[in-house]
Amino acid sequence: MQLNSKLPNVGTTIFSVMSALANEHNAINLSQGFPNYPSDKTLNDLVCEAMREGYNQYAPMAGYLGLRLAISRKYEYLYQAFYHPENEITVTAGATQAIYTIVSAFIRSGDEVIVFKPAYDCYEPAVEVNGGKVVGIQLTAPDYRVDWEHVAAKINAKTKMIIINTPHNPSGTVWSKADMLKLQDLTRNSNIIVLSDEVYEHMIFDGEQHQSICLFPDLKQRSFITASFGKTFHTTGWKVGYCCAPEQLMQEFRKVHQFNVFSVNHPMQKGIADYMQDPSTYEGLSDFFQRKRDLFLNLIKESRFKFTPSKGTYFQVLDFSEITNESDVDFAKRLTKDFKIASIPLSVFNEDGKDDKVLRFCFAKTEETLINAAEILNRV
Ligand code: PMP
Ligand code: GLN
Repeated sequence: MQLNSKLPNVGTTIFSVMSALANEHNAINLSQGFPNYPSDKTLNDLVCEAMREGYNQYAPMAGYLGLRLAISRKYEYLYQAFYHPENEITVTAGATQAIYTIVSAFIRSGDEVIVFKPAYDCYEPAVEVNGGKVVGIQLTAPDYRVDWEHVAAKINAKTKMIIINTPHNPSGTVWSKADMLKLQDLTRNSNIIVLSDEVYEHMIFDGEQHQSICLFPDLKQRSFITASFGKTFHTTGWKVGYCCAPEQLMQEFRKVHQFNVFSVNHPMQKGIADYMQDPSTYEGLSDFFQRKRDLFLNLIKESRFKFTPSKGTYFQVLDFSEITNESDVDFAKRLTKDFKIASIPLSVFNEDGKDDKVLRFCFAKTEETLINAAEILNRV
């Protein structure tokens, strides 16, 4: 049989590749982004309790209402922004499903979608499989600042969507209020939909404030926010997330969502809803991860890697240009095999494989793991 692939250039994701290599070589795995410490017992117990209480059949299509209420309250509490729990919030199977469903609900053949590179890897295949065209805007290490005149030049009548992500995976940079205001100006009076991937909203360092799209009224009315409880509650394996958007956009989203997953697993939603009654469950996260970042960076400050401290997410980018001329992919593989430490090369997220000689390390790890990892990096 002859197949005509809809995604001829897509292989296995770098996260699967590097995690498999780390396992094969028994290396410390700072590649794929996930914690190596347990999730909170209180949360786990609440989920178990939900199962015992009988939350074991289909949840409502849009999500367990108690969870949508908790999410709505969070936006009011943190950003004084309102999303109606009935028709402006939908619980999804991780942020990944939210992103895929948003793109497929709106992108038609020939539509252009602006994506800032390096970009998290699930955006582009979603656009392409739906017949859209990715318009990549390359940002450059180490600060990955946006040139807004360049963005303005890329916007045209075919631009249907702009995908943004702050705090940013993989670079660990964050967008400023000025960036958001520029985006607001550029999209004003247009029909452009903004997909604002905010899965790292609760991990932002050095006293900075997260610039959620919902803080900017003109942006809010044209945007989806995507979020992930996997990130916020150290439960990446549960694959529960959500998205928020004004009713008109959410109606279209749900038309696809109901045939895509219909609904998301029920006991986890009930457990998370109960857990979220206490805002300290997400409010302490920035301090928690900033301590890990500081520990990690302090331990490797004498190494030959150069760095700008991460401003958000649980990733730190390290520049290895003083160590070797190898490509970042080759060096990441050699580090895994020979030095027993796995990371993610950034070129795979860039336009045309642009190689800035930087690797991404995940510091959502125990102190012991970070100490062992630093000991290795200091020897490289
Ligand atoms: N967006 C970004 C920027 C991510 O790093 C991730 C990875 N976790 C996701 C979306 C997907 O989140 P989830 O695991 O909830 O699908
Ligand atoms: N978000 C995780 C990361 O950036 C990976 C998730 C995945 O493996 N798809 O490392």
